[in-house]
Amino acid sequence: MNSLLESFGKPDHDRWMGAALAEAEFAAEKDEVPIGCVIVHNGLVIGRGHNLTESLQDPTAHAEMIAITAAAEALGSRRLLDCTLYVTLEPCAMCAGAIVWRGFLILSMERPTPKRSV
Ligand SMILES: [Zn+2]
Repeated sequence: MNSLLESFGKPDHDRWMGAALAEAEFAAEKDEVPIGCVIVHNGLVIGRGHNLTESLQDPTAHAEMIAITAAAEALGSRRLLDCTLYVTLEPCAMCAGAIVWRGFLILSMERPTPKRSV
């Protein structure tokens, strides 16, 4: 509870959301749905991802799932405690389930995402 309250208002909050937005831009450049995600642990990005459902032809290749897999690899653990997940759009039901199941302390979201390039 304290971690949630403490995280808001810290300058790093904008920094990490900016990193998630940069990931969303990578997705847009690939003509993917422009959603980006980063996972932060002890002040370091340990997982990042952007939507790759079209590129991989994988319906589960959402930004959050890719970032979660990368973060689990980085920590060498399936439990991602004391991590903060930043995502540029409200997660779908699949990702929301994974986020809850993985034990994240905080979910930050709701920044405008870049528009898909035409
Ligand atoms: Zn999703």
